Amino acid sequence: MAEKIWLSSPHMGGNELKYIHQAFDENWVAPLGPNVNEFEQSLEHFLNDNVKVAALSAGTAALHLALIECGVEYGDEVICQSMTFSASANPIAYQGAIPIFVDSEPETWNICPLSLEEAIKDRMANGKKPKAIVAVHLYGMPFKVDEVIEIANNYDIPVIEDAAEALGSTYKGKACGTFGRFGVLSFNGNKIITTSGGGALVCHSVGDKDKTVFLSTQARDNAAHYQHSHIGYNYRMSNICAGIGRGQMEVLKDRIEARRAMSAFYVDVFKDIEGISVFVEPNENYYSNNWLSAITIDPHLAGLTREDLRLGLLKNNIESRPLWKPMHLQPVFSRSPYYGNSVSEKLFENGLCLPSGSNLLDSDREHIRNKILQIIKK
Ligand SMILES: *Cc1c(COP(=O)(O)O)cnc(C)c1O
Repeated sequence: MAEKIWLSSPHMGGNELKYIHQAFDENWVAPLGPNVNEFEQSLEHFLNDNVKVAALSAGTAALHLALIECGVEYGDEVICQSMTFSASANPIAYQGAIPIFVDSEPETWNICPLSLEEAIKDRMANGKKPKAIVAVHLYGMPFKVDEVIEIANNYDIPVIEDAAEALGSTYKGKACGTFGRFGVLSFNGNKIITTSGGGALVCHSVGDKDKTVFLSTQARDNAAHYQHSHIGYNYRMSNICAGIGRGQMEVLKDRIEARRAMSAFYVDVFKDIEGISVFVEPNENYYSNNWLSAITIDPHLAGLTREDLRLGLLKNNIESRPLWKPMHLQPVFSRSPYYGNSVSEKLFENGLCLPSGSNLLDSDREHIRNKILQIIKK
């Protein structure tokens, strides 16, 4: 059988090993060093030259530190987009805080501004003002930035922007990751670029970056001996991983183009198929890196369910995945409050992510096209 076609696999550019060798040659085999500094600078340059970036061991670590720096403590409430990967919500629990989940809207699949405001008002009426809002750019699609930031500003609540999937996406020409009080990036193995594992926190001042680095390196006070006045974390990025990141930054633009070409490919595959829509930007304000291409299937019109298509592809060694299962439906968060209708539930029921890697070949695309059309016609 043909080799497995993955949803999203690592795609090296060429110079990653050069930077790793440099680290070995100079013995910077540690969670600091020239690769970390250079990787941070290239991210700052890519996002916009006014932000400060702290490279960390994971996107999840970046979310955790963002919550800490927003003052989230035991018993606090934090609003979180329900439809997302669990890593958006878990760090809220690390702090002993309570996630308040909010539904998506159908255009961007991200946090619904109406449900967001309803949630804020209701929590405040209950006596607790949310300490932060975690909003996500799912699959690279920017959330409704203007609406969400305006509501957050009206109630004076900081936004933690989970841009783990959205490096290279823009809203009104501005980079995702730069809109919130903090922005979160991920370089996990499945993301648009990878450091094998890693993440970063996007900050808007040198002070915030310094604080992030301080907390991520065990919160050591300025003294010759080991002196601590804060709880610290071991969350800094390794100089070896940052070497991979440096190499990946050199090809990021190509990776975005390739992912966007995958989305255009699926738009073409499904153009004459009734009941199946490809997830695309609602208008020209939105520019998605198309980290993952996704579709929704109306089983009545299409004559098959997303499981029919998923299992049919699996039989042909092609990986696809249901959309993120909303957090308010997850057993681990079953006791958390939820605000919304059933947009995210319906998306979960009918949505499917398709192979989206930047390393797929024309022959892979033809194979995917043929198998999809075969399965649909059955
Ligand atoms: C990948 C991801 C994260 C977590 O990033 P890691 O680097 O894997 O810890 C957080 N949020 C979303 C939406 C993600 O997709």
